[in-house]
Amino acid sequence: MKFNTKTIHGGQENTDPAYGSVMPPIYQTSTYSQSTPGGHKGFEYSRSGNPTRAALENSLASIENGKYGLAFASGLAAIDAVIKLFKPGDEIISTNDLYGGSYRLFTSIFENFGIKFRFISMHNSEDIEQYINENTKLIWVETPTNPMMNIIDIQAVSKIAKKHKLLLGVDNTFATPYLQQPLDLGADLVMHSATKYLGGHSDVVMGSLVVKDEELAEKLYFIQNASGGVAGPQDSFLVLRGIKTLHLRMQRHCENGEAVAKFLKSHPKVAQVYWPGFEDHPNHDIARKQMSGFGGMISFTTSENTLKSAVKVVENLKVFTLAESLGGVESLAGHPASMTHASIPMEERAKTGVVDSLIRLSVGVEDEGDLVEDLKQALEK
Ligand SMILES: *Cc1c(COP(=O)(O)O)cnc(C)c1O
Repeated sequence: MKFNTKTIHGGQENTDPAYGSVMPPIYQTSTYSQSTPGGHKGFEYSRSGNPTRAALENSLASIENGKYGLAFASGLAAIDAVIKLFKPGDEIISTNDLYGGSYRLFTSIFENFGIKFRFISMHNSEDIEQYINENTKLIWVETPTNPMMNIIDIQAVSKIAKKHKLLLGVDNTFATPYLQQPLDLGADLVMHSATKYLGGHSDVVMGSLVVKDEELAEKLYFIQNASGGVAGPQDSFLVLRGIKTLHLRMQRHCENGEAVAKFLKSHPKVAQVYWPGFEDHPNHDIARKQMSGFGGMISFTTSENTLKSAVKVVENLKVFTLAESLGGVESLAGHPASMTHASIPMEERAKTGVVDSLIRLSVGVEDEGDLVEDLKQALEK
């Protein structure tokens, strides 16, 4: 089955044995009757499992070319479950240019429990090895990174992870499996904030994990059930519906993203444009190798290079909405330094390029001319 068929049918055989409904029913129930103690039909309590969530989890496994999918109440709940695989003294190497909430979870929660994190640049994958010691257990990669759109070579990192018997986890939120399949490139675990492109309509908060290995899946399932950060049936239904148009939306996100990136690059009021589709992007060759397109996420700085100039641009946008989040059908603009990345100290932010004049765009699926026109009028005000 090819990807564009998997989004619609992957893992969806027999989702409604009762009436054959084409979409799986929303099983809005916490519990299931048993004929005799333990005599249930596959589900006993909805934290442990729910048929609507199971339909989504099967879809997730299918589109990521994995075997086991797990749906969580949010992207961060999914990452939380991954880190709970480890114990005090264990070390985790992570991308330094990271989603702010992931950074906060690692440093403000898990460091208190004795897990150590090293945030490093993974531009050159050879640099990673010097940070590995006998306590290292996981390499955590985000690519493209948020918000600087750096690209990390998943295959090269996976070789290092395998050599040292470490797990490799990839946050695939920005690329989606439409553009990039981390498990095929050697990752052990793929994570999503399904809130973003998988859901695709800015109407749900959810997270997911997909793995191939049965033992790892069992451990994660144990944590999912024991900690309880599960996705509800309504939300599972919405994300499953979102996935059915993922390939259509992503195609348009890529087309519009390219048009917007090229427009910004040509505009005198813009200094830098960060988009992996440009040939002069530092990791363009890796992006070309591991992604089938460059997506609709773009960051740029104003030529005035001040907080004030960036704030003025985002305030004057009319089609783009000034809001947190990304990956929905509507175009959004954000100011990372004061919004998504405010939880990262200024010195840390500056090191990775998240300066005060940086604006991040999630280019939606509207008419590309309207989007370019909107940016033009806001830049020229
Ligand atoms: C939004 C996001 C998360 C967190 O997901 P939530 O669903 O908001 O909990 C993690 N990683 C990336 C790259 C994100 O964009």
